[in-house]
Amino acid sequence: MNKKIKVFIIDTSIVLSGKPLNIQDAELVTTPGVASELRPGGKYYQIFQFLLEKGLTIMSPSKKSLKKVNEVSDQTGDTARLSNTDREILALALDLNLEKKKDVIILTDDYSIQNVAHALKIRFQSFAQQGITKKFKWSYLCPGCGKRFKKHIKNCPICGASTRIIIRHKKDITENISDD
Ligand SMILES: [Zn+2]
Repeated sequence: MNKKIKVFIIDTSIVLSGKPLNIQDAELVTTPGVASELRPGGKYYQIFQFLLEKGLTIMSPSKKSLKKVNEVSDQTGDTARLSNTDREILALALDLNLEKKKDVIILTDDYSIQNVAHALKIRFQSFAQQGITKKFKWSYLCPGCGKRFKKHIKNCPICGASTRIIIRHKKDITENISDD
């Protein structure tokens, strides 16, 4: 039986954490979006450069997987929280998961990436923080009148105040949430 090759996909938050990555017997992969967020001359670019020297590979995800990520993030309510780079990371994990010999794990401290990864059945590990233990969704709260919304809505249709994002835990899902 062949041993699976462990593949860690790293996002920008991992590089920005400034903590040393000591990954042995694993491939390290990231996306063009992460590379473009770390510009030459910056403090963190050195860490990134170091990782590239250690064998970090930059790969682009397929359009098909990006589409899938967009669909699922709409369902989980994370769309507004995901950057294009975040989408790339998730889509790349989907692509690499198709390779049977690979054991793909996203290394990220971003809760939205973790939440969508969970929904897509992609493994993830938190680097600096404790990862989510329960599935949760984002929702939006109007600080003016207290109404909550499932979907991203910029201004409250009732009182016009700008909404803010809140984490909705599974146990709270049945409570007090408006569908519109
Ligand atoms: Zn309101």
